[in-house]
Amino acid sequence: MELSRRDFLKASGAAGIGGVFLFGTLDPTAALAGVPRFLPLKNKVKETTTICCYCAVGCGAIVTTYEDETLKIEGDPDHPINEGSLCSKGLAMSQVHQVDGKPNPLRLTRPLYRAPGGTAWQEMDWGTAIETIAQRVKATRDATFDEANSRTEAVASLGGGELDNEECYLLSKMDRALGMVYLEHCARI
Ligand code: SF4
Repeated sequence: MELSRRDFLKASGAAGIGGVFLFGTLDPTAALAGVPRFLPLKNKVKETTTICCYCAVGCGAIVTTYEDETLKIEGDPDHPINEGSLCSKGLAMSQVHQVDGKPNPLRLTRPLYRAPGGTAWQEMDWGTAIETIAQRVKATRDATFDEANSRTEAVASLGGGELDNEECYLLSKMDRALGMVYLEHCARI
């Protein structure tokens, strides 16, 4: 049977606790002094695997939650890319969701729209936002398209560091099909 690093750590922990009871080297009550208060929560605390949201390295992480609260996020030792490690940004991932145990007030969960010349932002649903962007890209491209050179210089495309290989491929294909020549990446500006 193949034993993952995580299974090995769990088995080692169980063996350690078992050893304490068998050989009586520690008082079991004292050894488990901190455990009972967690027992009523045991079915509510869950671990979920995820991928770091920050960059295209795609490190794996385990999120431990209790109801809506994130208790901790740690590197996933079974993930083939990072094998349990996370960089400083990945370690701070939980702050996207919450700060000091409360929902992060700076987190955007819906698109914000500011009209041309306007000063106030207003919330917009995703469907309207995507449709508006598509209509404006099409209108700008059609109005500025250079037929002789098959291109438009009026629209640019900016990729983000969190886009993976396949997403970059699809984005650059779409950009080129539209005739865009200015493709950039956030890491270069
Ligand atoms: S930001 Fe750091 S932890 Fe997140 S995927 Fe990139 S290298 Fe991994």
